[in-house]
Amino acid sequence: MPAVIDVSCINCDMCVPECPNEAISMGAKHYEVDPTLCTECIGYYDKPTCIAVCPIDCIDLEAELRLAAK
Ligand code: SF4
Ligand code: SF4
Repeated sequence: MPAVIDVSCINCDMCVPECPNEAISMGAKHYEVDPTLCTECIGYYDKPTCIAVCPIDCIDLEAELRLAAK
């Protein structure tokens, strides 16, 4: 399941160059992850690198968001 950027994103650009799949781009109001391109960084990094670099911690994996919502 892909990473998801929430509305608190401050458009700082930190995550964009880090994504090995170029899955992150500017959306209507903030950066968004294209779920068809995100592979959770498998094969590139041990953990999703966008989550690791985001200074305000506004990215989560969709799977974890679903768990948190239960
Ligand atoms: S988890 Fe990895 S592949 Fe997915 S958007 Fe973040 S940096 Fe890109
Ligand atoms: S690093 Fe975080 S705050 Fe910065 S653009 Fe990416 S998602 Fe938004």
